[in-house]
Amino acid sequence: MATSLLRVCPPGELLRPLAVPERLLLGPGPSNVPRRIRAAGAAQLLGHMHPEVLQVMDEIKAGIQYAFQTRNRLSLALSGSGHCAMEAALLNLLERGDTVLVAINGIWGQRAAEIARRLGANVCELLKPPGQYFTPQDIEQGLVQHKPLVLFITHGESSTGVLQPLEGLGELCHRHGCLLLVDAVASLGGAPIFMDQQEIDVLYSGSQKVLNVPPGTAPISFSERAREKLLRRKTKPPSYYLDMSCLANYWGCDGEPRRYHHTAPINSFFSLREGLALLAERGLESSWERHRANCSLLCQGLLGMGLELFKARLPTITTVRVPEGYSWKDITAFLMDKHGVEIAGGLGPTAGKVLRIGLMGCNSTRDNVERVLGALRDALQRCPRSRL
Ligand code: PMP
Repeated sequence: MATSLLRVCPPGELLRPLAVPERLLLGPGPSNVPRRIRAAGAAQLLGHMHPEVLQVMDEIKAGIQYAFQTRNRLSLALSGSGHCAMEAALLNLLERGDTVLVAINGIWGQRAAEIARRLGANVCELLKPPGQYFTPQDIEQGLVQHKPLVLFITHGESSTGVLQPLEGLGELCHRHGCLLLVDAVASLGGAPIFMDQQEIDVLYSGSQKVLNVPPGTAPISFSERAREKLLRRKTKPPSYYLDMSCLANYWGCDGEPRRYHHTAPINSFFSLREGLALLAERGLESSWERHRANCSLLCQGLLGMGLELFKARLPTITTVRVPEGYSWKDITAFLMDKHGVEIAGGLGPTAGKVLRIGLMGCNSTRDNVERVLGALRDALQRCPRSRL
């Protein structure tokens, strides 16, 4: 239109209908979302302070307490992904100059160290080659040497496929005057974790893996010890959005009348409520067993095809070495194009070296194991192989 003031036209691509293909998501996350959870996310909106929404938030808290096996009052879901929980945990626990010991055996420790450095903390690193986990002796040496206030460790290292044993670590940290912070984004619901019994001080996860909820909400919980550290802070946390004292009030964890903090992603909370409800209905023990059984079936199948497992301890994500002569990109692209199945390449220290196959929540089934093995077999026959 000659008279229009607009210099930028409505984009043609937005005038076409949204296209979302069907795909089986067997990478390290996100995983597929069952109908019931999708329906919850598509419900009509309510206000973020309406009693029905506050009730859903209370139900989410109870669901997190069950999934984490904790009675911590300060348990809630952040409005953000796993990284948001990682930032929230570190920026609430640490003040400038505080010493944090970060156990690094893959990308998630590296990320935590990077975040802690940005917060001005004194970051000490405890290193293990990718594919290995930390023993209590490793941890104790680090605690004695660096005298940290916080230890960060990853339960399910999704970049390498390693499950970190947590037994005894909480007690060890507490004996050395340190708080234990655990990342369970890739493991929650798929491998046993007991926040209270294992004396974990801060535990967080994400919505888009075993819980089968779209990304964007992140369960987190603080022990009494961790809560006391927050109360003793000399300075306010550097983020208002992620300040646990404000969030504790909005989530009804501090016994005060709830006040508006931010407009929560209400429909994402509906979905998270349903993801936690499905886990409660199935039961944690049955969920752990299902992940263990299907992962071991997958590992047997991979070994049967002559493939080499990189590390086979994490029941949610299996890492397998890229077979010699093949390009990981060819294999992942082939699975996506010809079979509608997503698997992923490596990440961080495993980039270019492994393929990562996730079987999480409703995706952890015998059928999916057979489907991904069949697709891989096809890929190994049909993808180009360099002559060595
Ligand atoms: N920690 C671990 C162990 C993860 O696997 C992931 C996601 N792959 C994250 C943290 C980060 O979560 P998000 O991508 O949801 O921010």
